[in-house]
Parts: sequence; C-alpha cells; structure tokens
Amino acid sequence: MIKLKILGKIYYLFFSNNISSFSIRKRVIYLNPNKIDVFIKILENMLRYIVIKILEDKFNDMLKFKPKINITLSDKYYAYIDVNNKCIFINLLCIVFDKHLIEYIIMHEILHFIIKSHGKLFNTVISWYYPYKRNIERILIEYNIYMKNLKELINKHSI
Ligand SMILES: [Zn+2]
Repeated sequence: MIKLKILGKIYYLFFSNNISSFSIRKRVIYLNPNKIDVFIKILENMLRYIVIKILEDKFNDMLKFKPKINITLSDKYYAYIDVNNKCIFINLLCIVFDKHLIEYIIMHEILHFIIKSHGKLFNTVISWYYPYKRNIERILIEYNIYMKNLKELINKHSI
C-alpha cells in the first residue's frame, strides 16, 4: 500500500491486476501495475488544468501574455520559469498540494516574470498576496513525504 496525497487529500493506493487501469473508491485507489503511466498521465493533465485555471482566475491582470505550461519532474524545485520563452515549468509532484498551495507556487513564479530576484521588493509583493508566507512555506515542507511517495510510484513505472 502506498500513501498518496492528491490535491491535499490522502489516498491509499493498492496494486491490483484485476483492474483494467485504475479505479477510485472513496479514498482507496486500485491501480493495475502495468497502467501506472495512465495514472500519471491523468495527474499531469489535472495539474496542467489547475495551473491554467489559476492563471486565468487569479493572475490574469498581472501578465500581458499567457505563459506556456510545462510539466516536469524533479527533487529540487517546485517550479521555475523561462523568461525568454514565457514558460512556467511546474513539477508534477506539486499535484500533492492543496489547490491554494499550488496557487502560492504559481504566484511566486508569475512574479518572477516581473521581478527577477528574491529581493526586498519581491518579498514585499508576495506578502501583500500572502501575509502568512512563512506558514505556507512550512506547510509545503510537510508534504515532502508525499512528494517522495509519488516519485517512487513514478519511478516504478519507468523501470
Ligand atoms: Zn523564486
């Protein structure tokens, strides 16, 4: 059994060969071990959709362009941007977070299109949007174990 978090909610994942791809009943996910890629693809699409929604709903006025969204996989970062190509790269493992935490991560990256470095101005603007920035960053770290669990599942599929 693997303990997963998807959008901040806990799920218990079991492998089962009796399932064609996967099924979710309440908080239990049954996944065919040969269809991990299907499951991961759905998580990717979900994250992409959520990021697009966040950009449209929350940060539409902040940028004069629509950034491209790329889903990546990493142990090192949540997200980063490519200013020249107007791209946001977001780590698939961020799907573990609650929506408002994903929003916080996106906000941080969006602001980097305008303010390059983590200086005083950058931090001031962030704290206008998120007065409890420090708390949020502490909460993000509490998800590390779930990021690790999801990473292990993804690795299983690539072996
Ligand atoms: Zn940054």
